[in-house]
Amino acid sequence: MSQNVPITVAHGDGIGPEIMDATLRIIQAAGAKIDIETIEIGEKVYLKGNPSGIEDSSWDSLRRTKVFLKAPITTPQGGGFKSLNVTARVTLGLYANVRPCVSYHPFVDTKHPVMDVVIIRENEEDLYTGIEYRQTDEVVQGLKLITVPGSEKIIHYAFEYARNNGRKKVTCFMKDNIMKMTDGLFHKTFDRIAAEYPDIENESWIVDIGAAKLADTPENFDVIVMENLYGDILSDVAAQIAGSVGLAGSANIGELGAMFEAIHGSAPRRAGQNLANPSGLLLGAVLMLNHINQKDIAAKVHNAWLKTIEDGVHTYDIFKEGVSAKKVGTKEFADAVIERLGEKPVKLKAVDYVRTDAPKGIEPYKYIKAPVAKKELVGVDVFLHWHKGSANELGNSLKTIAAGGLSIAMIANRGVKVYPNASKDIFCTDLFRCRYFNANKDAVFTNGNIIALLSKLDEAGFDVVQTQNLYEFDGVPGYSGA
Ligand code: NAD
Repeated sequence: MSQNVPITVAHGDGIGPEIMDATLRIIQAAGAKIDIETIEIGEKVYLKGNPSGIEDSSWDSLRRTKVFLKAPITTPQGGGFKSLNVTARVTLGLYANVRPCVSYHPFVDTKHPVMDVVIIRENEEDLYTGIEYRQTDEVVQGLKLITVPGSEKIIHYAFEYARNNGRKKVTCFMKDNIMKMTDGLFHKTFDRIAAEYPDIENESWIVDIGAAKLADTPENFDVIVMENLYGDILSDVAAQIAGSVGLAGSANIGELGAMFEAIHGSAPRRAGQNLANPSGLLLGAVLMLNHINQKDIAAKVHNAWLKTIEDGVHTYDIFKEGVSAKKVGTKEFADAVIERLGEKPVKLKAVDYVRTDAPKGIEPYKYIKAPVAKKELVGVDVFLHWHKGSANELGNSLKTIAAGGLSIAMIANRGVKVYPNASKDIFCTDLFRCRYFNANKDAVFTNGNIIALLSKLDEAGFDVVQTQNLYEFDGVPGYSGA
């Protein structure tokens, strides 16, 4: 029986087919034990009328192999096309985006001669769930969703990744000085999980100063774990400052499968000319070989590639007179890597993935349900679309409407208190958050009380666009102040 690991391969659009051919030729020459199932994705599939850019039948292959090596695709212009990466993320449960950002000084131009950072980005939550609403003439709202299992899963992965890859430190970037509940949860989860890995150093930075330090002294970072939005932005910054956007690969790791790719797009203007640099996809394939536990082959390919870069055999995008020795096309670059299989770089640091001291791979994350807290309903925030006067006038009219034991305590606009006793100069939009608390702590207080209040407000002609119940969990307020 074949010992080969089945993988699903998509050649993509633009430069995709050329860089995929080069990549597959190299890894097969290195002895990768793989059986390739080819699927079609991208522009042609979109234009055939499939809005996801992938045929339904291709999912059978992906569900079977659980390993996807994907070349970049072109998303056609105009609306109505779903992002293939989003579909793959949801279908394969891809929760972790892993992007090594490395500089190859002095062979590739970089501002940072010493940089070897891995960004681990949470991939399923945060502002990227796409839960957005238009609420009034002036206000739209997007929901930032951070969960206990989502945070635990990505932070656990970051520490496991560090332990398995000989990394010394995991840093967390977040902004819990402002987003005390969402980023606060991420930070607390980081601290809790970090304590389970005494062999790995840990530190946290507020994302703004952390990002500044990363751009200035990347040599001080090792693995960095972040929520989705910060990770999206800073993984591109990190790849760019390493000097190697065209050289970076990435892995998307999930519960139902994993996807490996270059971080760049399909570069349509370079297509079909034997010009493109296949390195990003090749390094994506190195991540894949590690994932399918062919670590010796992964190291062989990676070291031959490093030697090729070090020997100055460069495609046009990184070619520099005086530094590079030879300008080559895609095919010739692949040939040069194949010629060097078995060699190691001399000046650049060689990789060694077959570490005898490494643990046996990433421990799967097991979620233990959070303990159930004592949850008490204490009030409600009612969001009103209102444009008939000042915040004070709104407050004074709401004072006359009380029901269900609820009375108005505070009004805020864009998170700033505007009633009672607020400065007259505060600018207000047409969305007011009106906070009601249960006045009588001894009486039974339920959603029924809130419904009674909403009926009264409705009868009085107020336009209620949203409500949010206010709870205390084990006596701790589960809502932000204003
Ligand atoms: P791009 O990454 O394709 O190109 C940006 C620049 O980098 C161009 O100048 C290009 O020539 C150069 N470049 C990129 N990869 C290169 C390589 N391997 N070798 C040499 N030069 C390279 O970004 P873009 O132009 O904004 O997007 C082009 C298309 O790619 C769009 O349709 C976009 O939607 C798609 N895209 C796809 C993915 C993906 O499939 N994962 C990612 C990003 C963009």
